[in-house]
Parts: sequence; structure tokens; C-alpha cells
Amino acid sequence: MTTPHSLSQRDRARIWHPFTQEKRVKDIIPITRGEGSYVMDEAGQQYLDLISSWWVNLHGHAHPQIARAIYDQAQTLEHVIFAGFTHTPAVDLCEGLSAILPKHLSRFFFSDNGSTAIEVALKMAYQYWANQGRVDRRLFISFEGGYHGDTFGAMSVGQQSGFHDAFQKLFFEVKTLPYPHTWDDDLDVAAKEQHTLHQLKTLLEEHHANVAALIIEPLMQGASGMRMCRPSFMQQLIACARSFGVLVIFDEVMTGFGRTGRLFATDHLDISKDMAPDFICVSKGITGGFLPLALTVTTETIYEGFLHEEWRYAFAHGHSYTANPLACAAACASLKLTTHPDTQRAWVAIEQAHREGTHMLQNTLGPDIIGRVRILGTISAFDVLDPAVDMGHLKEAFHQAGLLLRPLGRTVYMMPPYCTTKDKIGVSYDTILQILQAHLG
Ligand SMILES: *Cc1c(COP(=O)(O)O)cnc(C)c1O
Repeated sequence: MTTPHSLSQRDRARIWHPFTQEKRVKDIIPITRGEGSYVMDEAGQQYLDLISSWWVNLHGHAHPQIARAIYDQAQTLEHVIFAGFTHTPAVDLCEGLSAILPKHLSRFFFSDNGSTAIEVALKMAYQYWANQGRVDRRLFISFEGGYHGDTFGAMSVGQQSGFHDAFQKLFFEVKTLPYPHTWDDDLDVAAKEQHTLHQLKTLLEEHHANVAALIIEPLMQGASGMRMCRPSFMQQLIACARSFGVLVIFDEVMTGFGRTGRLFATDHLDISKDMAPDFICVSKGITGGFLPLALTVTTETIYEGFLHEEWRYAFAHGHSYTANPLACAAACASLKLTTHPDTQRAWVAIEQAHREGTHMLQNTLGPDIIGRVRILGTISAFDVLDPAVDMGHLKEAFHQAGLLLRPLGRTVYMMPPYCTTKDKIGVSYDTILQILQAHLG
């Protein structure tokens, strides 16, 4: 229902939305308020935000502690140039993150979003070698389905994601490997993993002297449909890259801050000093979903590769709002909530609710309809195999039922804020079941 000059009409007259075919947009939902796991529209309809508003929200909407931290910081120092100057929220945040990240990842570079965190890592990896006279090390290795953001470097390494086809001719050279994605009861996983590892080894035997870095979303590819791989595979992958002297970049933009049931996806791996990534990129959940912020975290070895009397060895990169104090204050407040024992217990409860919910769906509808179930911590996903189900219609039905879900291709996934109770998740699976039943062929 749209009244003249409603918010949605004013929106349609002016605004161009992200990842949207504007020609096909029917209705745009005007949200006026958020609280806990819910957002509310103008008409008073509530939506349970089961995708954490594109994976950014951690502790619920309008969380009072984070709101307060931003308010207090805004009255003290809203922003200051970050070249030659610093401030408490930035230093506090990096110290706080140091305590929970692998020890050797001890240098922090700020930017504003996931894509820029990736650009920074790619540029650092390239220039690290170039500073040693190795300009020939300019090849990157990435994975089919890997998504790393929408700026040019990030698109280049994500060129097999299917999101950036319009720009293929503008990308730098990247070698892509198959991603051995797996799910519950997958019988072929070991063979898929061996195939990828074999390809990596062959590639590196030939090209290792020209490779700058390998980039991967550890354990779970987000945008290509919550595609999981096994920790043991990740470990073999890193070991192989390391044995050829290739730098390793973990894109934890989506997986960071508890999504996978541990603070970072990296924490699922047994990482000794030589086996750890050289870069971890984080963003999305870092501020609890309040403000844009990102970090590229790296080692002292990489950092020292830029130290020189001459300016041209420096990392010449920075954004106007680098280390914005409001965003850093929000991130510090969010970190406090994330590391609280109650939050860790919430991850376990959410994972259990996902297991029960997906079992119920699969048992009721059968494995020919609900396939490739995969669950990792607070994230769950399954594919709707019945081709009669129109995924666009399904999304509309979810919205009408008050579930904020946004299927990726034929994949339905959930990634709720950590304050979402087991009961609410269970009821959501029941609603999904009813909607699916109404849409089956
Ligand atoms: C979302 C995402 C990005 C890009 O982050 P933006 O903040 O949208 O630029 C990069 N990598 C991964 C894994 C992501 O999920």
C-alpha cells in the first residue's frame, strides 16, 4: 500500500539500489525502526532479520551499548586525520583484536569496508615483493565462487564469482582453482579436495616465482551461496602455498566475529607459526553492524618490508575516513559484547537450532527437495532442489511472513544476529516449511 509521496515512492524517484535490477523492482520496503533481531516497516510489520542485514549485525539492531559508545565518542572527538595522528578508540580496538587474533598477526591497517580491506591486502602483497625488486611476482591465486568485493582488485580476484562478468576485460591476471565445497553426507569431498590440491601443486611448480599471493574465504564462501570446505583441506592448502613461498590472504569479511561459531574461521584451523595466513581482512560485523569500518591485519615481516629511508617504499594508501573514531568506538563496544561468555553460548544455541530446523525440513520434504545442507556455527544453508519453486516468489513469501531472508540462487540461508533465540529460529524453520509446501511443484 503506497500513499502519495510515501517513502517508497520518494525512494523510487531518486535512489539507485545496490545489487538490484531496478527495472524489476516492484516494491521497496521502508524500514523505520530496528530493535533486537527485528526491523519494523512503516505499516508496523515486523521482520525477523535472519540475514543480519547483509551479514553486518551481530548483537541486534539499535543495541543500546553500541549506540551509547557512538554517542559518547561523537561528543568527544568525531574524526581526525589518521596520518601523523592517532586516538584512543583506534589503539584500544587494535589492542583488543590483538588479544583474540593469531599472535603473529600484529599490524593493523584501517579502511572502510570489505572491498577496501581486500584492496589493501592485495596491494600490500604485491608491493611487499616489489619492494624487494620482485615485480615479477604479480599473479594472484583465487577460487571459483570466491567473492571479495566490488572494487577492481577485489573483482579481479573474485572474477569467477559470477558477480562481475560485465568487467571481465578489465581485470588483472588471476589463476582460479576449483573450490571443493561440501555438505552433510557428501561422499565425494575427499576426491574434490585432492583434485584442487593437485591443481594448486601443479600450478605452483610452474608459476611459483611469479605468484604474489593466494586469497580465500576460509571455510565458507559467502556470496556464492554459503559454500563450505573442510578445515583439514584449508590446512593442506596453506601448507602447500607456504612450501612455495606464496603469501596467504584470508578474507574473513563475512566469517569474522563469531559467525562460524568461533571468533574467526581461522580459529577452526590448527595454525602454528609457519602455517598461519599473512593477512586477515575483517569488516562487516566489526562494528556490530552500526558503522562502516575494516581492517587488514598482517605480520611484522610484511610491515618491515615497507620500512626504508626512501618514501617510495611506503604503503601509499589511505581513505578520508581512515580509522574513524565513531566507528572504532562502536567496534570496541561490539568487541566487548562479542567476547562475552553469553555470546559464545548463543553461537552454540543457534547452531543447534539450525541442526534441528534443517533436519525437520529434510525429514518432512525429503532429500530430493531439501539438499546440500551445511551448517557452520551461526550460519546454515540448504538448496531448494525442486526446480518448480521460483526463488523470487519464495523471497516475497518470506517477506510477507515477516522473515527477512534473501536467497542466493537456489540457496536459502540464515545468519541471524546472536541475540536471536532458539525458539525464534525454530519457528522460522516451521514458517519456511509452510511456505515451501505452498510453492512446490
Ligand atoms: C561482503 C564481502 C566483501 C566485501 O565487503 P563490502 O563491505 O561489501 O565491500 C568481501 N569479502 C567477503 C567474503 C564478503 O562477504
